[in-house]
Amino acid sequence: MQELLERKKGLHRKVLIVDDEFIEREMLGAMLCDLYEIVYAENGAQARDMIRRDRLMLSLVILDLHMPVLDGYSLLEIMRSDGDLRRIPVIVLTSEKEAEARSLQLGAADFISKPYEAPDVVRARVRHSIELAEDSVIIHETERDSLTGLFNKEFFFEYGKRIDEQNGYMAMDAIVLDINRFRVVNELYGRKYGDTVLKKIGSSIHELVQQTGGLACRSGSNSFGIYIPHSSDLKDRLEEFRAEIDQTLDDKSISVRMGIYCDDGSISDMERRFDCARLACHKLRSSYSTCYDFYNAELHSREMHSERLITDMDKALEEKQFKVFYQPKYNISGDRPVLASAEALVRWFHPEFGMVSPGEFISVFENNGLIHKLDRYVWNEAASQIRLWKEKFGMTVPVSVNVSRVDIFDPLLGDKLCGITEQNGLEHEKLLLEITESAYTDNSQQIADTVSLLRDRGFKIEMDDFGCGYSSLNMLTSLPIDALKLDMKFIKNIASSRKDLRLVEIMLDIAKLLEVPVIAEGVETKEQLELLKNIGCDIIQGYYFSKPVPADEFEELIRAELKEDTHAYC
Ligand code: C2E
Ligand code: MG
Ligand code: MG
Repeated sequence: MQELLERKKGLHRKVLIVDDEFIEREMLGAMLCDLYEIVYAENGAQARDMIRRDRLMLSLVILDLHMPVLDGYSLLEIMRSDGDLRRIPVIVLTSEKEAEARSLQLGAADFISKPYEAPDVVRARVRHSIELAEDSVIIHETERDSLTGLFNKEFFFEYGKRIDEQNGYMAMDAIVLDINRFRVVNELYGRKYGDTVLKKIGSSIHELVQQTGGLACRSGSNSFGIYIPHSSDLKDRLEEFRAEIDQTLDDKSISVRMGIYCDDGSISDMERRFDCARLACHKLRSSYSTCYDFYNAELHSREMHSERLITDMDKALEEKQFKVFYQPKYNISGDRPVLASAEALVRWFHPEFGMVSPGEFISVFENNGLIHKLDRYVWNEAASQIRLWKEKFGMTVPVSVNVSRVDIFDPLLGDKLCGITEQNGLEHEKLLLEITESAYTDNSQQIADTVSLLRDRGFKIEMDDFGCGYSSLNMLTSLPIDALKLDMKFIKNIASSRKDLRLVEIMLDIAKLLEVPVIAEGVETKEQLELLKNIGCDIIQGYYFSKPVPADEFEELIRAELKEDTHAYC
């Protein structure tokens, strides 16, 4: 068993055999290949390039002295004068005693004499040299974390950056590994146990960088940094690594999370790579099911933007950066289209980003619950606008406002809406309420209850985006609603697709069954309008009539309407 483990461990160590004689290389390789990964070079120059390239991965160099192009002595000199290469042990192949002294001066770790000794002796020498090099404290104690033996954070970055520079910024992956709830582990089981956990994780990390090359540090009380040459199968490697940690810890109550910056060439600075890995790790804090995640630049910048919008929201409300636009809805059942009502749609005039459309911020505010503040602001604006138009034009233009799914859970929703309408001297039915269909399907009972209460208090409810949710016919018939607003995606192709037109006809049939009117949203062309009129859709909203416009522009539409029929809304 022990031998098997040794063999397994050894296979991950890479040994470079440098000899110009093919037979010699092959013989040595044959003695070692089932214990180590063997690579070959046939002269000093080739070996020098390989060593420079693979400096993080090489455990040992076995070097012939007499070779063309660049001989063994010269290569030893090159290695000795380079701080990083000096760490790789070299066994010199020699047949002369005199050569030994010179090689020793140049830093050789051991000798294998030609013709070769028995394979067991060769293997023992190789193992011994590798172990010695790995055990020796090359770096000063203060550069290591005393508990785990890994680098400390400062030295880790210093050394890592140096390696990056020397390696021409070769692709490196950065991993931040944190122990979940480590404080609790310490408090529950004591510091000593905590230290054991740290040590075990430290040695698994050590093992990983031994296998892959690279370096690692303990960067905080429960945090580690791992910097390893980029590999395309990193995911598999991490799976194995995590399994190994689980096995070593043998304690189900302890788990780790890892954030990874997988080198895609976009960042070459080591610290920035680790910033990204830390962000990815940080995101996992609240996730119990995922133990590692990769940094994603696009996602991150979107999240940063959303965060910024959240931070700016309160100030924006105070400073009235949110403006309510109005889009008319026309009744087309008669000879000419008649302005029937409007929908209030919010826009954010952000001092830095310019106009931000609701598509960008509504779902962000819905996700963190802040939407109720914005909705209330919009409802107030819309209600006072209805009042202003009533005062200015002597008529009431009903306005529909969007009620987010989050608002449905507010037990004071009805009181708030009544307060707003009453404050503006409006009948409740003049402030129409749009609730998206998907909210119905998510929480059907809660919605049905809330909507019934609102209707009891005189509000009219329009089911928005109809066709996008998954309302069953059965559910629809039991829902208390006053109108269906067809989602614009159904309207988009009615002029070119018979199927789409037929689908809209079916939805109109459903509305007929429910005895509610249908509003078609997103009508952009005359052709669409005619088709909808022909199949019996009465109310139209869309760019064909007008885009959502500021209140003062909307007044032009009211004036035009008044010219046609001064008594239309009295
Ligand atoms: P919605 O309530 O379904 O609003 C209709 C959307 O369709 C609006 O987008 C409107 O500008 C757009 N639209 C209308 N006619 C046409 C057309 O002919 N062609 C095209 N391509 N688009 C048309 P907008 O203003 O970007 O709003 C998007 C969504 O954001 C709204 O969808 C609504 O769900 C939400 N929203 C807007 N304002 C508010 C608000 O104050 N509160 C809440 N909770 N949600 C809001
Ligand atoms: Mg709407
Ligand atoms: Mg809609």
